[in-house]
Amino acid sequence: MMDKADYILRAEYVVTMDGEAGEPVFRDGAVAVKDGTIAGVGPEADIEKRFGIGRAGQDRTGAGADWGDGRLKVILPGFVNTHTHAPMVFLRGLADDLPLKEWLEKHVWPMEDKWLGPEFINDATELACLEMLKAGVTTYNDMYFFEGDAAGAVARLGMRAVLGAGIVDFPTRVAKNTDEYFERAEEFIGRFLGEELITPSIAPHAPYTCGPEGQKRAALMAEKYDIPVHMHLSETKWEVGEIQRLYGKRPVDFLDGLGVLTSRVIAAHCVWLDDGEIEILAKRGVSVSHCAESNLKLASGFAPAAKMLRAGVKITLGTDGAASNNDLNILGEMGTASKLQKTVSGDPTAMDARSVVRMATRWGAEALGLGGRTGSISEGKSADLVMLDLDKPHLTPIYNIYSHLVHSARPSDVQHVMVAGRPVIKDGRLTNADEREILEKARMWGKRISQESVSKQVL
Ligand SMILES: [Zn+2]
Repeated sequence: MMDKADYILRAEYVVTMDGEAGEPVFRDGAVAVKDGTIAGVGPEADIEKRFGIGRAGQDRTGAGADWGDGRLKVILPGFVNTHTHAPMVFLRGLADDLPLKEWLEKHVWPMEDKWLGPEFINDATELACLEMLKAGVTTYNDMYFFEGDAAGAVARLGMRAVLGAGIVDFPTRVAKNTDEYFERAEEFIGRFLGEELITPSIAPHAPYTCGPEGQKRAALMAEKYDIPVHMHLSETKWEVGEIQRLYGKRPVDFLDGLGVLTSRVIAAHCVWLDDGEIEILAKRGVSVSHCAESNLKLASGFAPAAKMLRAGVKITLGTDGAASNNDLNILGEMGTASKLQKTVSGDPTAMDARSVVRMATRWGAEALGLGGRTGSISEGKSADLVMLDLDKPHLTPIYNIYSHLVHSARPSDVQHVMVAGRPVIKDGRLTNADEREILEKARMWGKRISQESVSKQVL
């Protein structure tokens, strides 16, 4: 008897990143999708035979036909952006050319204090999701406030996200004190636990903004609900000095002493680590979100990503918020991370293209606890897929598809994107909402924010 599929997607290259199968790339490959799940992947002829769907267009839903005949195209797993603050797209380019501490304390935090609220979060998240989907990102890992309002926008646009309820030791518009932060976080987690596209997480901001009590409570809450912990860690030299001053230890040693470093933790940045700290991260199974462009822009330093990789730390890639990047372009991040690590480690073989694609896909999903659901084109996983158009001058000719993905491809090459088998970008355009409306709303917010800033002379 024939296996069943709703439709078949074809491409000249199918880059699977399937770890158990040895990450095969199929030339003239095909992916069969059934009920939003990958039902089969392999050479086109084998898949057509197995599912009994040929080129004559017997696709039951038509979604497969929308993706065309696959000539000069590549299908790959949707990218995973493992560290961002999506709503910060509204602060893009607002206060550049400043050190992290001054940028946060004098610009970002006062702005957030003035503007953050459900409407801001909804409108900004829509813009961020639009930007990410158009760059082939199907899953992102967020840390911010009012994540319940972000979830609405994410669901409407059909994206997948891990949304982290931010915890800090000081009052903000979200909460007055630690108890209130945790009450709100727990309520948020309860609301979204078990959802298909939204995974709640807990996000103790950083060791210098969320002290021992908050860190320990966050770890316990993560344990209780079986969810990820998302934090910043050892981002700047200042942070290392501050934690040493406060607790007499370096940041990783300090957190490890609290017992909060586990395989649930995804730690963004990890720029300033000594060898002992790298060893601890590897031993505890902590995943790192390497944010090369944000670190470069804020002059935070060069994360020892290649070294961590050699020590066995799972490295994934994040854009960080758009205010410190200034975009959510994971393809750009892949190229930057690879080139930067080659120079930093003095080794041109470091961070090879295939490893970088793995970091931006399967490893990202695994770091978020979503490895069984997304991150590779494997039978049984969700059909979170991206198709890139290779019929471009900067992608011609092709010798090594991984090299092109890391060093040559751009978001404008992304043609189609689907999440859980549902098309979210078709021919480069959003399917679930009006792009112009999202941009119009964002421009309106920009006007309001800049008028306020000028009158207060923040800019
Ligand atoms: Zn960040």
